[in-house]
Amino acid sequence: MAHPTSTNSKLTIAIAGCGIGGLTLGAFLSKFSAENGTDIQVDIYESKPEVSTLGAGVGIWKHSWEVLQELGVEEDVIQRGFKVPKEGEAHGPIFRKSDQFTDGYDFHNHIMPYGPLGLPRPVLLDILRNQLSDRCTIHTSKRLTHYTSDAEGGVTLHFHDNSTARANVLVGADGVHSKTRGCMFSTLSQTQSKDFEKYIEPMWTGTFAYRGSLAKATFAEMYPDHIALNHPRSHVITHPLGPNIGVICYTSRPELEDTKFTESMIAEVSIQEVADLFRNWEPTLIPLIQAMQTPNRWAIHVVRPLPFYVSGQVVLIGDAAHGMTPHQGVGGGQAIEDAYLLARILTYEAASESKLSASLKVYDEIRRPLSQRAAEFSRNNGMMYEYNHPNFSFNSAEHPEGPSREELEEMGKELGRSFLWLAEGHVQDDWVKAREMLQAQV
Ligand SMILES: Cc1cc2nc3c(=O)[nH]c(=O)nc-3n(C[C@H](O)[C@H](O)[C@H](O)COP(=O)(O)OP(=O)(O)OC[C@H]3O[C@@H](n4cnc5c(N)ncnc54)[C@H](O)[C@@H]3O)c2cc1C
Repeated sequence: MAHPTSTNSKLTIAIAGCGIGGLTLGAFLSKFSAENGTDIQVDIYESKPEVSTLGAGVGIWKHSWEVLQELGVEEDVIQRGFKVPKEGEAHGPIFRKSDQFTDGYDFHNHIMPYGPLGLPRPVLLDILRNQLSDRCTIHTSKRLTHYTSDAEGGVTLHFHDNSTARANVLVGADGVHSKTRGCMFSTLSQTQSKDFEKYIEPMWTGTFAYRGSLAKATFAEMYPDHIALNHPRSHVITHPLGPNIGVICYTSRPELEDTKFTESMIAEVSIQEVADLFRNWEPTLIPLIQAMQTPNRWAIHVVRPLPFYVSGQVVLIGDAAHGMTPHQGVGGGQAIEDAYLLARILTYEAASESKLSASLKVYDEIRRPLSQRAAEFSRNNGMMYEYNHPNFSFNSAEHPEGPSREELEEMGKELGRSFLWLAEGHVQDDWVKAREMLQAQV
């Protein structure tokens, strides 16, 4: 049965996935099509019965915040009691050596080029959802299984309940395990080259993130001087999350990178499992782990750097395109920036149906290098956090005693430099560049 909507508009856009990327795209398509008078119908298909509330805090950096400001959500953010980011330097995480059973010590007090905003994921999704117009509809319990492209240039989406929907453009915003990406590269591996097979499935990094949170007020009563109440720390990471403290404990086995992970991607685990992994760390960590409410273990998967994000009239955004490690806190921001530029391009008057594929390639040309650079920075940071970076490798046999304070301070400087790009330039400049490229096509 074909979906009944999306028939009379000039351009119909189907988005698979109602996460950060999908909702931001829906919101910007609503805004720009109203401003430009573009006749666009948008349908967002989400596999879950409701828009997901899973996930903890999402750090929003300068570029993504500027984009969200353009969407007009600043007032909403302030009214919900969050402090908006400020221009100029701000205190960032304090990096601390904790993996020893004597008291740890801080080795890098990070001054960031820009103060980011931390929003709980459900709050961010709610804010974005409020920006959808009545030309943008969310359909829940619609799990995309695959798509087919037809000779007239349209795309048909196929769902697990055997229903279908048709659109001019399909945007895969369905996360790191994306069926859209899977279908795109599976088709290409059959019709063009076997080399494309490696992009179908994401790659396990060998890393688990044990995520949980605990009530700040109760914890403060029991441990009033605890370090986590005053500043965050790494590589267990703690961060403020409204009335809670968010905790993420990472463990990695680099030798398992690119092996097949066969268990549940997200699994509830016992506090004991987490505590056992960190039993030789400094004692101050123990009460924090003991107080975690229902910790979850996330198997961190990434997408191998794709050769393109666009095939015909199907386009990938967010984690579907460049699922990355979380070590720079930018995956969600990259999804927001993808969505902004893609919405700009799709609502640009020159993006007529006949030129869609060419217009989508402009998105690919601009966003692919930027998002893949973000993924690379994130991977590098993860290696530094675990003393596993080629330039800061303190886990090896030559370093049985671990890093010295001087070596850690040197690494701290490098970590500081790795965040600088987050304050450079503006996403709006990318749109100026994209518009020039679109005009050159006319
Ligand atoms: C431990 C951890 C910490 C992180 N910290 C940060 C941070 O501080 N800052 C930051 O910016 N990012 C952070 N990230 C990354 C961030 O969460 C992701 O990059 C972001 O959620 C990607 O958004 P997305 O919309 O592309 O995908 P998702 O948010 O994963 O959304 C995908 C949506 O698609 C739906 N879906 C999946 N399959 C289908 C299907 N077949 N059909 C229809 N719908 C489907 C899903 O249910 C979901 O709603 C972190 C990630 C992790 C794991």
